[in-house]
Amino acid sequence: VTGWAVGVDIGGTGVRVAQVAATGAVGRVLSEPLDAHRGGGRDLGQLTDMVGALLEKSGPGRPAGIGIAATGPVDPERGVISNRHTLPESFRGPVGRRLEQAFGVPVRLENDADAAAAGESWTGPGATVEILACITIGTGIGCGVIRGAKIVRGPRGWHPEFGHHVVDPSGPPCYCGARGCVESIASGSAVVRAASAAGAVAADAGAADVFAAAARDPDCRVIVGRAHSAIATAVLNLVAALAPQMVVLTGNAIGRPGDLVRQIRRRLGSYLFTPPGGVRVRLSELGGMAGCIGAARLMLEPGVWS
Ligand SMILES: [Zn+2]
Repeated sequence: VTGWAVGVDIGGTGVRVAQVAATGAVGRVLSEPLDAHRGGGRDLGQLTDMVGALLEKSGPGRPAGIGIAATGPVDPERGVISNRHTLPESFRGPVGRRLEQAFGVPVRLENDADAAAAGESWTGPGATVEILACITIGTGIGCGVIRGAKIVRGPRGWHPEFGHHVVDPSGPPCYCGARGCVESIASGSAVVRAASAAGAVAADAGAADVFAAAARDPDCRVIVGRAHSAIATAVLNLVAALAPQMVVLTGNAIGRPGDLVRQIRRRLGSYLFTPPGGVRVRLSELGGMAGCIGAARLMLEPGVWS
């Protein structure tokens, strides 16, 4: 395979665009905080600016296409971002069609958790297994599953929202309609919400502040412990439902990764129905680039998409 593609990752707080080679190697990368007030409506100001800047700097030769990973739900078949809970107005709508018109190359839109899983199963530690689950813990929590080099989907490209399965029925209410889904307890925004409600951090703090405060503040320690326990429960449920050979953890709201991985391994260690060969629990090695790499892969290895 030759050529390259543009991988775009639209998260709850930032946008990243990258040049990704057909080997999965990452070239030039541009990152910016999400700017809800720039552009918007028809011209998608920030997105088109960033992709345009990347293409300009990437010299001659056109990309195979633009793959976009976006915080969900998205409609991959129609190329539409619709969730009013995770992205500002300026990043919603028929993003795929607008970028195709702007740059004249094919565009595919994917849920960010599925894109991260596609990245992890391409050049990450998950490349060696048949069934991989990748959990992204950031502003929200998502989980993508790859089986036989294909993204596992529901009807019409639907992304199964494992981040919203319930781990504590008496937990906090979530915008998804459930109480105590894993996202409502363990996402970056959930730990900030809980810590600021306890008066332990300021309302505008980030998840990293809560994880740092856990070393000295008992409230934050309890909140982080609860978050990690919820994720360990989620992984156990995932193993029970899907029997993956590997679970990869990625995202910027993990806290002390060693603590989390140990807790998950401990939980899995006492579980009877571990699939043959065991379940490997790994941290991502793609340094926050899994979404961009996986999104670009959609254009370079279209088989993973279907
Ligand atoms: Zn939820």
